[in-house]
Amino acid sequence: LRTGLDLHGAGVERLESISRMLHAPKEIELLLTTYLQEEPRTSLREGAVIADGMDTELDECRTLLANADGVLRAMELQERASTGIATLRIEYNRNTGYCIEVTNSQVDKVPPHYLRKQTLKSMERFTTAALRDFENRALTAGERAIKREKFLYDELLQKLQSYVSWLMSMSQALSQLDVLFCFARQSSQWNYVRPQFVAAPQIGLEDARHPVVERHIKAFVSNSVALGQTNRTYIITGPNMGGKSTFMRQTALIALMSYMGCFVPAKSATVGPMDAICTRIGASDDVSSGRSTFMVEMQEASSIVKSATPRTLAILDEIGRGTSSLEGSALAQSVLERLHTSNRAMVMFATHYREVAFALEKVPNMALLRADTEESPGSIVFNHCMVEGVADSSYGIHVAMMAGLPDDVVARAHALVEAQRATLSIDPTSTPWQMLATLDLSDYSPKELWAHIEQLQSKQ
Ligand code: ADP
Repeated sequence: LRTGLDLHGAGVERLESISRMLHAPKEIELLLTTYLQEEPRTSLREGAVIADGMDTELDECRTLLANADGVLRAMELQERASTGIATLRIEYNRNTGYCIEVTNSQVDKVPPHYLRKQTLKSMERFTTAALRDFENRALTAGERAIKREKFLYDELLQKLQSYVSWLMSMSQALSQLDVLFCFARQSSQWNYVRPQFVAAPQIGLEDARHPVVERHIKAFVSNSVALGQTNRTYIITGPNMGGKSTFMRQTALIALMSYMGCFVPAKSATVGPMDAICTRIGASDDVSSGRSTFMVEMQEASSIVKSATPRTLAILDEIGRGTSSLEGSALAQSVLERLHTSNRAMVMFATHYREVAFALEKVPNMALLRADTEESPGSIVFNHCMVEGVADSSYGIHVAMMAGLPDDVVARAHALVEAQRATLSIDPTSTPWQMLATLDLSDYSPKELWAHIEQLQSKQ
């Protein structure tokens, strides 16, 4: 407001009302500007709250604190002039404190009000009533300044008592203005658009970006979302580092930002009514209260399943990792089926269990997305672009290699995967039929499948 921001005539009802709330009695401004510094510290304990020039006692303490040496030099010049001792010095010594030092050859010129403090080989040390007073004041200046600031601050509060309701409404108006200003600045600086609100539950984003990640990455890849209308669920597969979490989180953040009243990082955004954004994201445990990572994951999934409605945006970044893959994928699928069919929520579900994606690919209103990648010998490029379909691999070993896992460990992991592909591990308790039923067809080439079926026949 000081910089001349004029909210009158802005044509926006909210700004007009803020502007009205900011009109307060002149006395408030006068009191605040007289008592307080332009940018007061937030804690009185650190001082620097009360304005300079407001109170002589406080000013003196501050001068002493900031300029004790200058005051001493001035006193020294004065003493030299009055005694005629040109070599007289005022020094601070840890043992004796402040003292006037006079060399032996000049001692006979010392006036009677000088009090001897210490005799050394070549000089005498003195003090005076004025120097003692200075010493007292200098050594306690910091403490006295803080006390004085507190006193003055309390005095200010007393004087403001009768204006409390004005202050409350002004601070409310200012905080609203602060938030709106921040929204406006970020939105214009980062090219955000105004979301469009519609009556039917949905979230549709064209070329959306992650508001935080895009600031740290040169070529952020935007992605689109259309959830709630035709498709209610996305099953997202793809390698680690493929951009799945970022994609899901940005969707949730954009929903939240829309409801906060901010523009959003996308080319266009359509948002319907939402009652909650539920997330199951990240792996953390709570071992101190007896909850393993898997337990936490299941509790979060359980609370989402119990509460999600068609107006809920549910973001689930992996379900079922802390158990065997058979149980894990079964849990992932059952949670997802429930959210899609009974809760009918808007769901984004990232998983490495590709079998879940294949099992549900024909379910109406479900869409399959994968984080696109390009593979070249020995390396993999993440495009961070979400396209239709199911990823052909999780590329876990590639990512482990990029993360610096030693070559021999990576090579061994590769060999184990190859061996696993070549032979089915035959569980002696299951029948060939059961083995066949759990065989993930998408994992094998036709030739490998042929070999597996031969293996199962030989078990008969
Ligand atoms: P995932 O969940 O598939 O393992 P993340 O979403 O955690 O992958 O992304 C891994 C990293 O990839 C991020 O930290 C970010 O640096 C980069 N990234 C993610 N999405 C994008 C994107 N859309 N454009 C550019 N880089 C991205």
